[in-house]
Amino acid sequence: MADYKTDFAARIGQLGLKYFNASELLTRTSSKNKFGTQNSRPPEAIWDNIIPTIIVLEALREHLGKSVSVQSVYRSEAYNQASTDKATGYTGRAKTSQHMAFTAIDFKVAGMACTEVAGILQEWSNSGRMFFAPVMFERKAVKVSAGTIAFGELPRSWKVWPFGTWFALKGYIHAYPSENFTHVDTRGLTSKMSE
Ligand SMILES: [Zn+2]
Repeated sequence: MADYKTDFAARIGQLGLKYFNASELLTRTSSKNKFGTQNSRPPEAIWDNIIPTIIVLEALREHLGKSVSVQSVYRSEAYNQASTDKATGYTGRAKTSQHMAFTAIDFKVAGMACTEVAGILQEWSNSGRMFFAPVMFERKAVKVSAGTIAFGELPRSWKVWPFGTWFALKGYIHAYPSENFTHVDTRGLTSKMSE
C-alpha cells in the first residue's frame, strides 16, 4: 500500500532541490482555518502542478542567498471556501484561488520587503527567463464549485539531454505588504490574473 508522504517525497525528490523539501510543500495541510475547517493534502493527480512553482522559488532562493519561508501552498476547497462564507463576513479569499490548484506558494524572505521580492519575480516573468525542471511534468486543471480554476500552458520545451523541461514563468505575482509575504503561481497563460 502506497504511503502518501513517502510517494510525495519521492516525486519531489526527483527535482533535486537544494533549499526545499516535500514537507514544506505540505505546509498547513493539516491545519484548521479560523472557522474550524481542516485543510487536506493535495490529491496525487495534481502533485505535478506545483513543480514549476517550486523550481522558480528554488531559483529565487539561490539568487537572493537569503532564507525563504513557505507560508501557504495547497488549500482544499472546503478549507478555502469556509473562509469565504459571506455569513461570517469574511471574504478574504478568492473562490478560484490558485492555492486550490496547487500551483501557488505564499512565502516570506528574511530581511526583504515583499514588494522588492515580487519585483524580481515580475522581471523574470516579463523577460521570459527560462527555468529548468529535471523531470517531465504533466499538470491538470482543477474544478471547484465556482468553476474550473484558471489554468493554461506554460511556454516550455522538453529536452532529452539533459533530461527535463525548460519553462517560462507565467502566472500571478503579488506582494502583500500588510503581512510582508509574496504570492507566486504558475497558472500559465490565462486571461484571468488575480489571486
Ligand atoms: Zn497566495
